[in-house]
Amino acid sequence: MKCPYCGNEGSRVIDSRPAENNAIRRRRECDDCGKRFTTYEKIETESLTVIKKDKARQMYDRNKIRHGIVQSCHKLPISMNQIDKAVDEIETRIFSLGLREVESSVIGEIVMDKLKDLDEVAYVRFAAIYREFKDVNTFMSELKKLLK
Ligand SMILES: [Zn+2]
Repeated sequence: MKCPYCGNEGSRVIDSRPAENNAIRRRRECDDCGKRFTTYEKIETESLTVIKKDKARQMYDRNKIRHGIVQSCHKLPISMNQIDKAVDEIETRIFSLGLREVESSVIGEIVMDKLKDLDEVAYVRFAAIYREFKDVNTFMSELKKLLK
């Protein structure tokens, strides 16, 4: 781990503690300049396969979830920080299912659940894309459910 101040490779861990999302936060001290910095180590999660609607399988990809949320939050007063935090929480929920394979519909429901808390407009947008509303009526009934 290179020191961000002097570029020296050697550092000493002075404190370790668990952080969010299966990560470990380590406080380090540079062997050379003595300055302190923090690193996060993320435990590599076992590969997860997503089963799509057409039964095709693909590797789980966090960026796909993030991308969907970013699009749903377009022009809404939601910061990238909030989005990343939401993605973290969604990911934690997905992995805590403890599955090797997960249906994309399960992920979709978890995302929608989270978006409901985050922003109602983002939720409706995501649901509209995700559930592929065939007509205005389905869309309106979903919207009414939400507004209740
Ligand atoms: Zn240094």
